[in-house]
Amino acid sequence: MDDCLFCKIAAGQIPANKLFEDEQILAFYDIDPQAPVHFLVIPKKHIPSAACLTEQEGALLARIYAVIARLCRELGCENGYRVVTNVGADGGQSVPHLHFHVLAKRSLAWPPG
Ligand code: 5GP
Ligand code: ZN
Repeated sequence: MDDCLFCKIAAGQIPANKLFEDEQILAFYDIDPQAPVHFLVIPKKHIPSAACLTEQEGALLARIYAVIARLCRELGCENGYRVVTNVGADGGQSVPHLHFHVLAKRSLAWPPG
């Protein structure tokens, strides 16, 4: 999508501090980290949010979670981590391209604000 920040990052038009990339998925550090480890994982194809997912994206989602697990192992997040995807205004979504926040290396509060 032409006017989408994360599509531009996925296409390499805007730089990002990348952790992992393949033909379908990109992981990069969040520009405004909310924990000592805070990165985002996105599908390269434009999906507006988790509200738009269908069973067709099952393999893509499994791959995203497998990449998250591997990256967290590599980053030494053995105490645990949190995966969050915000949806819409009430969910706190500010970038309308599906992304999974991965937060780690501090004790995270529950319930979230
Ligand atoms: P949301 O609020 O949609 O759940 O999450 C969007 C996230 O994208 C925020 O945590 C924000 O800090 C991050 N973000 C916004 N613009 C950029 C950018 O240009 N580069 C990177 N790496 N992260 C960004
Ligand atoms: Zn997009």
